[in-house]
Amino acid sequence: MAKHIFVTGGVVSSVGKGITVASIGALLKARGVNVAVQKLDPYLNVDPGTMSPYQHGEVFVTEDGAETDLDLGHYERFIGVDLTADANATSGKVYSSVINKEREGQFLGGTIQVVPHVTDEIKRTILECAARINADVLITEIGGTVGDIEGQPFIEAIRQMRKDVGRENVTYIHVTYLPHLASTGELKTKPTQHSVRELRSMGIQPDIIVCRSDFDMPDELRDKIALFCDVPREAVIPLPTVDSIYEVPLVLADVGMGELVAARLGLSEARGDLSVWENIVERLRNAHEPVSIALVGKYVELEDTYLSVREALKHAALLHGKSLDLFWVHSEQLDAGNAASQLSGAHGIVVPGGFGIRGIEGMIATARYARENSIPFLGLCLGMQVMVIEFARKVFQSDSVNSTEFEPDVEYPVIDLLPEQRAVEQMGGTMRLGSYPCTLVPGTRAFEAYGADATRERHRHRYEFNNDYRDALSSAGLQFSGISQDGRLVEIAEVQDHPWMVGCQFHPEFRSRPDWPHPLFAAFIGAAVEAVPPGEQSQLPL
Ligand code: GLN
Repeated sequence: MAKHIFVTGGVVSSVGKGITVASIGALLKARGVNVAVQKLDPYLNVDPGTMSPYQHGEVFVTEDGAETDLDLGHYERFIGVDLTADANATSGKVYSSVINKEREGQFLGGTIQVVPHVTDEIKRTILECAARINADVLITEIGGTVGDIEGQPFIEAIRQMRKDVGRENVTYIHVTYLPHLASTGELKTKPTQHSVRELRSMGIQPDIIVCRSDFDMPDELRDKIALFCDVPREAVIPLPTVDSIYEVPLVLADVGMGELVAARLGLSEARGDLSVWENIVERLRNAHEPVSIALVGKYVELEDTYLSVREALKHAALLHGKSLDLFWVHSEQLDAGNAASQLSGAHGIVVPGGFGIRGIEGMIATARYARENSIPFLGLCLGMQVMVIEFARKVFQSDSVNSTEFEPDVEYPVIDLLPEQRAVEQMGGTMRLGSYPCTLVPGTRAFEAYGADATRERHRHRYEFNNDYRDALSSAGLQFSGISQDGRLVEIAEVQDHPWMVGCQFHPEFRSRPDWPHPLFAAFIGAAVEAVPPGEQSQLPL
């Protein structure tokens, strides 16, 4: 039977609870523990797939095609696991399941209530996730902060779990935030005391309190929190903001987080092998010269939208011994007239995924600028579609070339709805989602990047390259270097007469890890590094 770690948040959200969870997972994995990880989100959407990036940031896609919370990306990158749909559940998913069961008559005429029916469903979700991989330990993160109305059934369910599986098999970790008062120059513990009091009022006494802060936490505050919140001093874990999220596992290891959890749950005392993290931190410290990458999208004011893209670029830069100098360009503010100034200094350009017409012409102008100026270019999903549209506009000498997503009656629909999408009416979970095999064509940049003749990649799209244009565009110099295994769909396209201009219909960013940069990102950054004019590197700001 699995042991359980439940992680709640206090004071404010967005303090890095997901990275804390991912890092604890990394520490346990290093100790040889078979760890599963799960995020429970109290909002009512069934999944984040239909939510705007402004609401939710990135939608992370798992191998099995679930549209999930972006924290799952952190878990995969830190723990080195491929998660599945059961690693993320929302109130919407839990309630739909309970209501479906009620409609099927499974409750035999009973009155359906939050306790026990909804809480039972939450507990079932938790237990099934642990059982599926036969985990030694399941870490379950509860989204939001303690005190949220919609979070209450989740807090109640994890309270009940203590009785169900035994107190000795459960650890509660509460992640809080210590605000800093500029006027007195001190960190304050009162909000932490309040959020722990709130948690206790719902029947949960935390075993460990992780205190996020933007400044180092003085020792006396550790004592104070220990006293007021009734935890041992060593269970008050300071976690000040660090330069890179990839330092967090070692920071937590050094303050004894691994030992604390191991002792609490009766796991191996040995610290295990953290050399992967030591190596990454060492490389981060030694990567002084930047490689400048422009990311052109329409949600650039909200960097979380492109979280996995940013991380994948960092991983690849690190592989080449560079630090990533990423600058964000708003596609609505870019056009043919100002592309040169907006993109000046970029050694490489990325156009990431997206939906809807807003900002599309700016992305097309970006692809044109990259092609005409031989700047390495990586197009991801929508970015690949944009690259194809731009190339086809040149070949057909026409501006009436587009995706039918943006212009349904366009003369040259080089990107068109996938045939199986035509009958789709429901929005949630109905795109082409998840992992599919792709055959790589020898002699292409994609083949060279992967060093293999096939791969599997994760997808999230409704539109696709229109095969009616394969011959015309390939004879004009657009090479189709990745094709779905059934031969039906173009998965990767590249511009032949260019140093490195590759677009893929899938999202390679989801598979990239700090210790395994994705091959396409690695090759793209490699081309960008080569494109840095000699002598320029040392002049760039660090
Ligand atoms: N909007 C495009 C499609 O549905 C691209 C999707 C994406 O970039 N994820 O095909």
